[in-house]
Amino acid sequence: MLTKLYSLPELPYGYKDLEPYISEEQLTIHHQKHHAAYVKGANAIFEKLEKARKDGADLDMKATLKELSFHVGGHILHSLFWQNLAPADLPAQAGGGGKMPNGKLADIITEEFGGLERFKQEFTQAAASIEGSGWAALTLDKQTNRPVIMQVEKHNLNMYPNFKLLMVFDFWEHAYYIDYKNEKAKFIEAFWNIVNWEEVAKRLG
Ligand code: MN
Repeated sequence: MLTKLYSLPELPYGYKDLEPYISEEQLTIHHQKHHAAYVKGANAIFEKLEKARKDGADLDMKATLKELSFHVGGHILHSLFWQNLAPADLPAQAGGGGKMPNGKLADIITEEFGGLERFKQEFTQAAASIEGSGWAALTLDKQTNRPVIMQVEKHNLNMYPNFKLLMVFDFWEHAYYIDYKNEKAKFIEAFWNIVNWEEVAKRLG
């Protein structure tokens, strides 16, 4: 039967495969506990909405929709995030090694930022300066065709509507506390080794 509810996607690699940058323990908890909690949270709200509709009951729409946005945002971002990563020892053409392929993606990054190094610097600073929990994202503004860095607070704040998410990176403490304790900067640095640039390029279309 077709379900209208969300489910936790499988990872496109094994739990150990992102080591030494993300440990098996860290990745397992992040995927099976944290991501799973957003899937469960979003589904619970849809069930609550369905029940209230059936019973003709009133809901606090403001609180319900705020919570829904948080959980759905968390689920969508994590689903994109897993695809954005690849084992560092895969060949570059298979998305590994953290090497950006030549082509349209490299061209628009060079055109907008002046080069990969400047992009990495801005993205790193966006990641490092998130207030509280959040994400750094590379997006595409489809009106201007410009790549734009987005700093997402929590899972759903500061988002630009309808910008295409090319690459998202989770900087919630739950993404790195086992491996890096309070050293977020080390986690950001590690990330560049496991970016799946092929996937980013694919999303650009
Ligand atoms: Mn997370």
